[in-house]
Amino acid sequence: MALKVDLDLCTGCGLCAQICPEVFEMGDDGYSHVISGADEGLPCVDEAIDQCPVGAISR
Ligand code: SF4
Repeated sequence: MALKVDLDLCTGCGLCAQICPEVFEMGDDGYSHVISGADEGLPCVDEAIDQCPVGAISR
């Protein structure tokens, strides 16, 4: 499964990009996006999944 952010759920709080800036970035649309080519296996990805307040990150 590919790592993804559900844009219908994401509130744009920015927490995941703070926790794991190697993988998540805030887009011009105000929502989080997975950085192309990022290492989705980094431990901080799991932390971001756990910490997202609306459960928008999945894989
Ligand atoms: S932590 Fe969740 S709600 Fe906040 S920006 Fe990231 S994906 Fe969106």
